[in-house]
Amino acid sequence: MASQALNNKLSNKLSKSSPFLLSLLPIVTIVFLLLSQQLSAANSLKNDLFPEILRDEAAARLYELGKVSDAHGYLERTFMSPASIRAGNLIRTWMEDAGLTTWVDGLGNVHGRIQPPDADNKALLIGSHLDTVVDAGMFDGALGIISAISALKVLNITGRLRHLRHPVEVIAFSDEEGVRFQSTFLGSAAIAGVLPFSTLQIPDKSGLTVQDVLKENLIDTTEENLSQLKYEPESVLGYVEVHIEQGPVLESIGLPLAVVKGIAGQTRLKLTVRGSQGHAGTVPMSMRQDPMVAAAELIVSLESLCKRPQDFISSNGQCNAFSVESLSGSLVCTVGEISTWPSASNVIPGQAISMGPDWFEAEVSFTIDIRAIDDMGREAILYELSNQMHTICDRRSVSCFMERKLKSAAYAALKRMAGEDIGDVPVLMSGAGHDAMAMSHLTKVGMLFVRCRGGISHSPEEHVLEDDIWAAGLAIQAFMEANL
Ligand SMILES: [Zn+2]
Repeated sequence: MASQALNNKLSNKLSKSSPFLLSLLPIVTIVFLLLSQQLSAANSLKNDLFPEILRDEAAARLYELGKVSDAHGYLERTFMSPASIRAGNLIRTWMEDAGLTTWVDGLGNVHGRIQPPDADNKALLIGSHLDTVVDAGMFDGALGIISAISALKVLNITGRLRHLRHPVEVIAFSDEEGVRFQSTFLGSAAIAGVLPFSTLQIPDKSGLTVQDVLKENLIDTTEENLSQLKYEPESVLGYVEVHIEQGPVLESIGLPLAVVKGIAGQTRLKLTVRGSQGHAGTVPMSMRQDPMVAAAELIVSLESLCKRPQDFISSNGQCNAFSVESLSGSLVCTVGEISTWPSASNVIPGQAISMGPDWFEAEVSFTIDIRAIDDMGREAILYELSNQMHTICDRRSVSCFMERKLKSAAYAALKRMAGEDIGDVPVLMSGAGHDAMAMSHLTKVGMLFVRCRGGISHSPEEHVLEDDIWAAGLAIQAFMEANL
C-alpha cells in the first residue's frame, strides 16, 4: 500500500477539512491503513492496536450485554424495563472501568464523562441506544456504546485521557426503537431539547405512562424539570455515533467501515382506490371499474419511478441537478401493506357500503414508504407520483386519493462535502433513523457505519465480525486523538 501518499493525503485533508464532520473521513482511512499494516506486520504492531481491549474485550462485552433480556430465549429490552436497568448498570461499570464518571439522567439515559483538568467546556458526545426491538440482535445500538467505551479505555491506559483538550461524554440512550411507547428517540430527543412535554403522559399497553415508569425507577421527571435535561449548544463540540450498517453495501464491497453522508427523510402515505364492487363471473371486463388492478398498476409505476427517477424528473423542472443526482443514489420506495374489501376470490373488491342490490362502492388501499436523502427531491417524487395517480385512475374510471401519514426531514450530515475528494473511503446513506437524527437538533453530527453479515438487523441473526468491532474502536480512538 502506498502509505506515504496516503499519509500526505490524510494530512492535506485534516488541514483543509472543517474540524469535525469531515475529519471522520481521514479517520476511516487511517483505520484502513492500520488494519492493512496489521495484516502484514509483526506482532509488535499488534500491541499498538490494542486488540485485547478494542476487539476481544469489546466483543465479550457485546455478547454479555446481548444476554441481558426481559424475555427467555430472545433479546428484548424496552424503555426502563428491568433488563434495561440491568443493562444500564452493566454499562456504568464498564464506563467507570474506562476512567469515566457516571450518572443516570431524568429520562434514564446512562452517561459516562471525562472532564480533563485543562480541557475547555465544549464536550464531544459519543452515543447510541441501549434499548432493543423484540427478538433483536445484540449489535444494534450496543456496538456504538461499547466501541466508544473501549476507545476511551485505551486513551486512559495510554495516559491520554486526562490530557484531552475537550471533555468526552459517552451516552447510552434509554430509547431509540420506540417499542414500549411507540415514540422513538425518547432519550436523545430529551438531551437535544426537542422532546414535547406531553410525551411524559403517553401510556404503554398496560396503561403506565412514561412518567410512571420513570417514577417506578425512582426518577422523578415532571413537565417542569424535563427541560433541564437539554444540553446547551455552547457546551457541546459535536456528536458522533458508531452503528451497524443494517444494510448489505459494506459487505458487498468488502470493507469494514463507512462514513454516513446523511440520514434519509421519510414520507409515509396511504393511497386509496375506489371503484365498483361486483361479481367475478357476471361483470364483463369492459365494464369493470376494478380498484385492485388500478392499485397494481399504481404500484408498478411507483417502482419504475423510484428505480429511475431521472427519467421522470428533470433538473430544470421541479428540482435542481443536485436533487436529481442524489435521488438516483438514495431513493427507496416500498409498498408494505395492502388491504381490500371483502377480500374474496369471487368478488371484484369493494367495501361494505351498499350502492344498490348488486353494486357497492369499492375500495383498495395500500401504504407507500418513500425515503431519500434530499427533501426537495422527495417532494418532487411525490408530485410526480400524484400526477401518475391521476392519469392512471382517470383512465381506469376509479377514484384515488392520497393521505400523508408521516413526514420527517432528511439530515444531510455531509452536504457541505459536495465536490470533496473522499478517496477510497465509502460514503453511505442511512435509510434507517438513528439517535444522531435527534442530536442533529443540538449540534454537528458524524456517523460511522460498521459492516454486518448479510446486512441483517433487528433479528437474532445480526452479526458483526470481531475484527470489524476492532476497526470501529480504532476509528473512534483515532478520531479522538486527531480532534481532541
Ligand atoms: Zn439502532
